[in-house]
Amino acid sequence: MTFVYPYRYAKIRIDPAQHDDEADVVHSLRHELCHLVLAPFDHAIKVVERILEDDGTAGRAFDEAARFVVEECIINIERILSEQEGNSQ
Ligand SMILES: [Zn+2]
Repeated sequence: MTFVYPYRYAKIRIDPAQHDDEADVVHSLRHELCHLVLAPFDHAIKVVERILEDDGTAGRAFDEAARFVVEECIINIERILSEQEGNSQ
């Protein structure tokens, strides 16, 4: 199995019509940047999903657990960043 790191660059598109104000846009951008930090986990998740693709039940359970873990990690990173912003002002 060859490990190919999936992100060398990323293009993030933000639709201003989907956001209430500048702060909401910045929040969305920060959230998407946090996904880049966790990109190695996303890659590992895809590898395991390929291993489990013949087992629908295990594959779906793993996918649900993996998505939950990644989003929870992002929420925690966002909290850390928010606390740092609060401490630097
Ligand atoms: Zn997310």
